[in-house]
Amino acid sequence: MSKNTTATPEHVVCLPESGEPLHVPRRSGTVPAEAWVPYPKPIPRQWHLIAAEKGFSIHSRIRDRFHLCLRCLSCGALNAQKIFTLRTAQPACVACQCKSRQALAQAAGLEFMYRDSKDRHYGMFRAPCGHKISRQFAFLERIAAGEVEHRCEHCLQDRERTEAERIGWSFLSRDMDDANYRIYRHSCGHVQRVARVNMRWGQVDCAGCGQSWCSRPSYIYLLQITWPDTNQQLIKVGFSAHPDKRFRHQLGLPDSATVNLLRTLSFETGHEACHVEKRLHSHLCKTHPDAVVPSTELEGHINVVSEVYRPSLLPVIHSMFDRVASEQAR
Ligand SMILES: [Zn+2]
Ligand SMILES: [Zn+2]
Ligand SMILES: [Zn+2]
Repeated sequence: MSKNTTATPEHVVCLPESGEPLHVPRRSGTVPAEAWVPYPKPIPRQWHLIAAEKGFSIHSRIRDRFHLCLRCLSCGALNAQKIFTLRTAQPACVACQCKSRQALAQAAGLEFMYRDSKDRHYGMFRAPCGHKISRQFAFLERIAAGEVEHRCEHCLQDRERTEAERIGWSFLSRDMDDANYRIYRHSCGHVQRVARVNMRWGQVDCAGCGQSWCSRPSYIYLLQITWPDTNQQLIKVGFSAHPDKRFRHQLGLPDSATVNLLRTLSFETGHEACHVEKRLHSHLCKTHPDAVVPSTELEGHINVVSEVYRPSLLPVIHSMFDRVASEQAR
């Protein structure tokens, strides 16, 4: 989850008598809720005229001699506003703004959560994968217009972490100088800068210990994972240089999960295993899209975002493994 912004939800308090929600402007966000009490003084006729011209009606005076409670004529929501603002500017309805932000987020395929309290250009959103992400509102407009695509940086990072771990590297950070590179640490302790695409394909030689995973024997495995608390069962196909021990750790599974290694296919090189594994996944995604478990369902259960299937696909996967095994035997 993102921790890079501190933000608070929209400020809404309840009116003391009716309990009706009152939207409070951002700059008054630190004013305690108890301050928004009626201020029983007459309302000059002229104020009503100004309010009507600007799309509001005056509900009451509130808090002190400077503030009013305005009702938005278009959505009916109550807004706290300074009399000065009403007289000299166009007051905004916080509820209307909130609705239009929600509509914008929806058009961009995201769910609006709240605004960033430190930067009015930013908001927090829930991505379809379930991650919480910070984005500029202007960027959402570009997604909605089809100019750019939404990408979740947390999903990308999870994927990169798993890709590296299965060949004995751990992800440390991005390379600030080049977006295509990352910094990784090898199991021998050596830290190295590696192109993302090379890590993805397992083509990494360690300059520290000289070990090349690529040329070492590797395996494609077929796992059945059961979470007893929810009685959920899923199938994971992957590749690894160590097929027997590290699943629980690599996949971030809780102790309560049961892991059954159903089958392995061994390869002389990691390079070969990686290519065959990628081919299996792309075939399964094309031919059985319904059996591919969406990343939203995986969050919190396992630290991968793809390559997980429903148990109903097991016979299909077994026969694909059979085919690869018979190709190898030839
Ligand atoms: Zn409104
Ligand atoms: Zn995500
Ligand atoms: Zn090394």
